[in-house]
Amino acid sequence: MSVITKKNGKLHVPAQPTIPFIAGDGIGPEIWAAAQPLFDAAVTAVYGDTKAVQWLPLLAGEAAFKATGEWLPQATLDALKTNLVAIKGPLTTPIGGGHRSLNVTLRQKFDLYACFRPIHYFAGTPSPLKQPEKTEMVVFRENTEDIYAGIEYAPGAASAPLRQLLATDQQLNKVRFPEESAFALKPISKSGSQRLVKSAIDYALANHLPSVTLVHKGNIMKLTEGGFKKWGYEIAAQDYADQIFTWETYRQLAKTDQSAADAAYQAAQQAGKLIIKDVITDNFFQQALLAPEQFSVIATPNLNGDYISDALAAQVGGIGIAPGANINYVTGAAIFEATHGTAPQFAGQNKLNPTSIILSGALLFDYIGWPEVAAKIRQAVATAIQNKQVTWDFATKIPGATQLSTSDFGQYLIAQL
Ligand code: NAD
Repeated sequence: MSVITKKNGKLHVPAQPTIPFIAGDGIGPEIWAAAQPLFDAAVTAVYGDTKAVQWLPLLAGEAAFKATGEWLPQATLDALKTNLVAIKGPLTTPIGGGHRSLNVTLRQKFDLYACFRPIHYFAGTPSPLKQPEKTEMVVFRENTEDIYAGIEYAPGAASAPLRQLLATDQQLNKVRFPEESAFALKPISKSGSQRLVKSAIDYALANHLPSVTLVHKGNIMKLTEGGFKKWGYEIAAQDYADQIFTWETYRQLAKTDQSAADAAYQAAQQAGKLIIKDVITDNFFQQALLAPEQFSVIATPNLNGDYISDALAAQVGGIGIAPGANINYVTGAAIFEATHGTAPQFAGQNKLNPTSIILSGALLFDYIGWPEVAAKIRQAVATAIQNKQVTWDFATKIPGATQLSTSDFGQYLIAQL
């Protein structure tokens, strides 16, 4: 076994790393069967026989439940802990009281605080937009806090202590139907917000991107979402003072001298500084459609990020091709994943698009420091779409396209390497 480790802030990747994979439920095994041979072929194309991934199959979800009676077996958790970097297909969310989404559980268990979703348009992809190529963003969604903490109280007796607390704080009168209301808690912390914003800023700086936008709903939720924005600006000013210019600074300067504020902003842009700005979530959604080119890296709390990443993915072709990862940049733990669900009604048909997990694999190769492999995979995807050799979901929307099965699409990509 060759384990990937992180020491002194650096990821150490052996030439033959063990990388666990969870094929997943529903269409998971089909998309994985198309992806893995492509990954291996891309590694061989770049490194010959000097490097290779040793894929380690792990059980989770419905497949695990059938085999072991557990949805997330301890052996799977142990292997994920040991091997640091993994990739997964979609998992069925167990239905019934007490069950949480397995994805949310994995994110919490390994404290994978950054949900990383790059949004890129591949020419020829069907899109509802006239100029989809203008949507070029990277979303950093906070992954461990917010209402995803899963703390909810049912109406009636279950929420009586909470109602009592609200009554004591003279807040219960803000609740329209107190006895009938269910309640949810939304924890958002300074540390949780700042580590997420830091990963967005680090990414923007490392990739020479123009801006990081804090997307928040602080006009309504002043302490939680407003806290996210405030703490985000604070960490930017504290840790990156020389490399950034913030709208917060601009607004401060403009209070006394508008032209000095404009001049400082212009000077920062000319000096190539990273601009840190903010926008309220609802406005972000309309701006992302009307003028997406004004955004580059996005940092946002959990629920906003959930909506935003699917909406932006739709602008460039949908969740069938959108890649993603859940990362803890401190420990190095990372799980790359298809962003769509199990699509159970299509399972076994060898019909849907494996590109989401394929591009998630490309992100994984970038992450472990094999960027040439990632580039080859992306190039193959770009070529296939340009040549109109696509799966059913795209074939029905691209005039003159050839419809390939999931497995044939994988083979077509291998032929493009
Ligand atoms: P879904 O993403 O599985 O399917 C919704 C629709 O999206 C499908 O009907 C299909 O039209 C389209 N689609 C999905 N994957 C596609 C692909 N690869 N190529 C082309 N089109 C694709 O969402 P759902 O139906 O709401 O959820 C089904 C199950 O998946 C549930 O159990 C849910 O909990 C689970 N789920 C898992 C994840 C995950 O593991 N990351 C994410 C979302 C949903």
